[in-house]
Amino acid sequence: MVLKVIQNDNFYKAISYTSENVSLLVVIDDVTLGPALGGCRMLEFSDEKEALHHVARLAKAMTYKNAVVDLPFGGGKALIYQWNHQKSRNEIFREFADVLNYINGEYYTADDVNTTVKDMDFLRKYTKFARGVFYKGQQIPATSFGVYQAIKAASSVIFKTPNLKGINVFVQGLGKVGYSFVKLLRSEQANVFVYDIQPDIVQKSVDELGCIACTPDIVYRGTIDILSPCALGNSITKDNIQDLKVKLIAGGANNQLENPSLAQVLYDKNIVYIPDFLCNAGGVIDVDCEGENYCPEYVYRRVGIIYDKTISFLNKSKENSCPVLDIALDYVHSKLKGGK
Ligand code: NAD
Repeated sequence: MVLKVIQNDNFYKAISYTSENVSLLVVIDDVTLGPALGGCRMLEFSDEKEALHHVARLAKAMTYKNAVVDLPFGGGKALIYQWNHQKSRNEIFREFADVLNYINGEYYTADDVNTTVKDMDFLRKYTKFARGVFYKGQQIPATSFGVYQAIKAASSVIFKTPNLKGINVFVQGLGKVGYSFVKLLRSEQANVFVYDIQPDIVQKSVDELGCIACTPDIVYRGTIDILSPCALGNSITKDNIQDLKVKLIAGGANNQLENPSLAQVLYDKNIVYIPDFLCNAGGVIDVDCEGENYCPEYVYRRVGIIYDKTISFLNKSKENSCPVLDIALDYVHSKLKGGK
């Protein structure tokens, strides 16, 4: 077993752990506002350098996310990037618990892509540093509700109404976030076009929710009002950005822009981009509400901060003639400068 601490100018610190069963990384991006909070992703990478690049970017997004909705947390993220497929999931997570105990509270983990609250429940037997709640046997869709709030707020400014009836939305990715989000959109009779690399989930959304299956190139045809990336990152790239014909981009995926400078390109094309770290902050707000008196109604009320911040940042973006991302980053950086 090898455990090493990595330090460089890009983040506060990272921990690399490798044993015969698992290779994982924890990046703690910033602890100015409190202990780092961010999910653990299970995604295979062949080498540590590539994995570190991936998780460091996600950890930075967590710093922004926790700060933008005024939570007392810094940003961090974990990535299990190689594991022995002959071993049980519990054996892998048992070692992750030891790493969390070694970090000793500077980082709290939670569920993310390819990990669930069930994994967090297992971790909690061995560590105090895992979060994520089941309520009546299910996780409440706080992240999806936050994305929905961001879209309603942005629509009230762009389309002059928060009512989504008849608006054409393309949702890319129908996992934990995307599927519940689509349910909310359909409850308002939005026209929801969907794509996922897993055809069975697409079919389920067509059968159960009345979605319309499509291919991702629908965003170039001029028929979609809102693009909502809810899969993995990098949906907006320098190669596809010029062809995009939508009015608003707001979704649950982390790191939707291949690089932040693309926000200006979208602004110049008159496409409003609501920063991903604001749209998808519902999950961390849910984590902050964890405790004995946990109550979904209270969580949803608090997730409403995403609606208010979206309106406020959009108005400032208009006043200052700059992308919403610039306004959101200014807000985050001033919080980080001020400390706790
Ligand atoms: P998930 O693993 O449950 O779902 C991801 C879905 O995307 C899967 O259905 C997968 O088949 C699909 N997918 C993968 N690549 C795709 C592609 N190229 N095109 C279309 N579909 C594709 O993950 P999730 O928890 O729903 O998270 C989705 C995104 O939201 C991730 O970027 C995650 O980091 C982010 N996020 C999640 C939460 C949360 O509460 N789960 C919170 C904040 C941010």
